[in-house]
Amino acid sequence: MAVKAPEKDTTDSSVLQNINWGDFRDHIATADQEGRRMWIYPRRPKGRYYAARSWFSLLLLAIMFGGPFVRINGNPLLLVNVVERKFAVLGRIFWPQDGIVLAVSLLLFLMGIVIFTAAFGRLWCGWACPQTVLMEMVFRRIEYWIEGDAPQQRALAGAPWTPVKIAKKALKHAVFLALSFLVGNTLLAYIIGSEALIRIITDNPAEHVKGLTFMGLFTLVFYGIFARFREQACTFICPYGRFQSTLIDENTIVVGYDHQRGETRQHLRRAESAAERQGRGAGDCVDCRQCVSVCPTGIDIRNGLQMECVHCTACMDACDTVMDKIGRPRGLIRYASLNGIEQRQPLKVTPRLVGYSAVLLLLGTILFTLLLTRSDIDVTMLRARGTLFQELTDGRISNLYLLKVTNKSNEDLPVELRLESPAGALTVAGAPLSLPAGKQVETSVIVELARDNLSARKTPLEIGVFSGGERIDTITPEFLGPRVPRASE
Ligand code: SF4
Ligand code: SF4
Repeated sequence: MAVKAPEKDTTDSSVLQNINWGDFRDHIATADQEGRRMWIYPRRPKGRYYAARSWFSLLLLAIMFGGPFVRINGNPLLLVNVVERKFAVLGRIFWPQDGIVLAVSLLLFLMGIVIFTAAFGRLWCGWACPQTVLMEMVFRRIEYWIEGDAPQQRALAGAPWTPVKIAKKALKHAVFLALSFLVGNTLLAYIIGSEALIRIITDNPAEHVKGLTFMGLFTLVFYGIFARFREQACTFICPYGRFQSTLIDENTIVVGYDHQRGETRQHLRRAESAAERQGRGAGDCVDCRQCVSVCPTGIDIRNGLQMECVHCTACMDACDTVMDKIGRPRGLIRYASLNGIEQRQPLKVTPRLVGYSAVLLLLGTILFTLLLTRSDIDVTMLRARGTLFQELTDGRISNLYLLKVTNKSNEDLPVELRLESPAGALTVAGAPLSLPAGKQVETSVIVELARDNLSARKTPLEIGVFSGGERIDTITPEFLGPRVPRASE
């Protein structure tokens, strides 16, 4: 059953009483009452926010496409190799052995998303989400370039299949396919690594049937998303868009229409002064629907915050242009909190924003510290199960240990153990140890101490772990010996 538009008296704000709510809650903007898809032809946005987003997108696209190919210390900037369970963040390699670091990082990341959304709404969606950046800044621009702005696109869609229409459509879809191939290959490089991707491209195709199949599959998926599915991906698939309504409140910064200023919306009358307009109870909104015509999700932001809104700022730019033309202040549609609009206050830095930002900064710092300070080698040395100690013929005591060393770097590493305290002998079976990249080595270690060096039944050892002459860790296993008589005994 269709959900009805809200009752007009659900708010104490009198200016809302006269809004024509229409049927926007009876169906989504991109489907009719029967659920059939309605194709959106948004007008090309123009304005300061669009310009800023365009520059920012250039940076993001460079990072997005360069990510798997940029190397830091020989490792990729970012790698999510789920096949080999190998991950890279800022050039640091993580293996399944780093499960705890990755789990804590993921938790911090999720907490960060929750706090970020509570404070800044869907800023991410509008400015940094790869779907929005690729759709609005790459694919949509190509569409404007080939087919023209919204009215021309609509006319072309309804026109018969003339050679011109066939040529335009063929060119657009060919470019879309080529771009989807590029995007698909980049995603594949993030998953399997750039070297593996290059091997798939340059080797005999018969040797990489699986890789080539994924290449084709990813290309088709991205082509489907950007050529056909478009804004539906944000409305129906993206979980972030769905659960944002549970994270935001009346103090969250959103793209909002100032109904206090805008209502009651009324068309401009020729040669009417601002005082006359005010006199007949008209607000700043001239009901030109420019904000609706540029919206890539087809919604009318004047109906209030809606799930479909990806905060792309196009309506803010469109309305600012209108306000400039009619001589009214910009910002009828602006970044604002709902409370700010109700209280007629401009967007300001509140203690809540400062607090949330501080928590975000702290989470980010912890996350980076966790990721960047993780050592390349993990060493555990435990006494061999079921063993106590052995008395040697010369009176010394020996303990047998199991040593596990994990090399979490991307290169083979030599490892050496030195007993630093107390004086004694340490022998590693199979020494010198060489650890292959990303592998774990298990071996036995024997430590022998003179009786005089035992301080108690359990004597703490201090063992330095070195690689290439550099100390990378110090471990302190216990050495078990016979009971040491007290001086008084
Ligand atoms: S662009 Fe501004 S003035 Fe025009 S309909 Fe939208 S809110 Fe009203
Ligand atoms: S309502 Fe405005 S900010 Fe939201 S998606 Fe539409 S144009 Fe973008």
